[in-house]
Amino acid sequence: MQIQLENIDKKYDHVFAVKNVSLSVHDGEIMALLGPSGCGKTTLLRMISGLIPMTNGKIFFDDKDVSLLHAKKRNTAMVFQNYALFPHLTVHENVAFGLKIRKYSKKEIADSVRNILKAVEMEDYENRRIQDLSGGQRQRVALARALVIKPDILLFDEPLSNLDENLRVTMRTNIKEIQRNFGITSIYVTHDQEEAMSIADRITIMNEGEIQQCDTPRNIYETPKNLFTADFIGKANFFIVETDLLNKDRTIQVLNRKIALEPNTLHNPVAMIRPEYFKISDHGTQGIVTLKEDLGAITRYKIKIEERYIFLDEMGSQLHKDIQIGDSVKISFQEDKIVLFEKDVKRRDD
Ligand code: ATP
Repeated sequence: MQIQLENIDKKYDHVFAVKNVSLSVHDGEIMALLGPSGCGKTTLLRMISGLIPMTNGKIFFDDKDVSLLHAKKRNTAMVFQNYALFPHLTVHENVAFGLKIRKYSKKEIADSVRNILKAVEMEDYENRRIQDLSGGQRQRVALARALVIKPDILLFDEPLSNLDENLRVTMRTNIKEIQRNFGITSIYVTHDQEEAMSIADRITIMNEGEIQQCDTPRNIYETPKNLFTADFIGKANFFIVETDLLNKDRTIQVLNRKIALEPNTLHNPVAMIRPEYFKISDHGTQGIVTLKEDLGAITRYKIKIEERYIFLDEMGSQLHKDIQIGDSVKISFQEDKIVLFEKDVKRRDD
């Protein structure tokens, strides 16, 4: 099922929690809503589920306008971070709950529950009480309970934030696999960029109630459309573009090179280069290493060059093992990896 959001606003008093959001989620796709705390992602998810009304705008599921439809009639299922399970009931009773309400027969319930527990690899726990399960197992039951009612749309509200790091990484792969097997159109709210990038087909970045960019994880990382997105996703080095007012030439100073920009229509441009496009080399600009972090697959250096700092990432295999904090190094960069955008959004505070 396809989801179409058209010009959605949500106002509390006179403040916009969500502002003019338009978005399409394709059939079978998993779309992440990603942004800092308070950016409006949960509010948007709740409007899609029908739990809270919109101030303005329209929501379509395929061709059907569901804007005024009661939550119960939208056939969506939600998966929450606190599981929303009944702790004293068994796994079976929790998963069967929605089917009982919908008056399915005993046999249908037994078959559906068994099948769905198999799909989330919890078939051996059918008679275990929820309070006797681990966090990861509870989250699987929550997923089974959402899936068993055969929803058209799955809505995830930070489902993994109660789990520890290792389990989160495992569970996000499980969720993606299960979602793909069932082919259910899904929206996944998170403030964790790595989780969004790993789980989603596309990501919608939000800030202060508004969409900043919607694209695949790769495109968002490689070609962010504005300062907010570039800064929020991954690590970025920013450079101010200088304009020669006399002859209208625009150049950016990156290290010791002045690079002329193609004529462009940006008013107040800023340039960005990701840390992996800088490298330590025999020739280039001289700087001092002020920080070196071994992050496993990569090593990240912070290098002071005159009055500014550059972040530089090296793959483990290229590692300059002997370089230490305080060493003098030369660095260069890949000119074709410069990304330009408008400097119109304030930076998040680090
Ligand atoms: P988090 O990740 O912290 O949950 P979020 O991106 O999901 O954040 P929302 O919960 O959607 O953000 O909130 C968006 C904005 O709307 C916030 O400024 C919040 O304070 C405000 N807001 C949400 N619900 C209400 C409400 N019932 N009354 C007034 N303001 C609200």
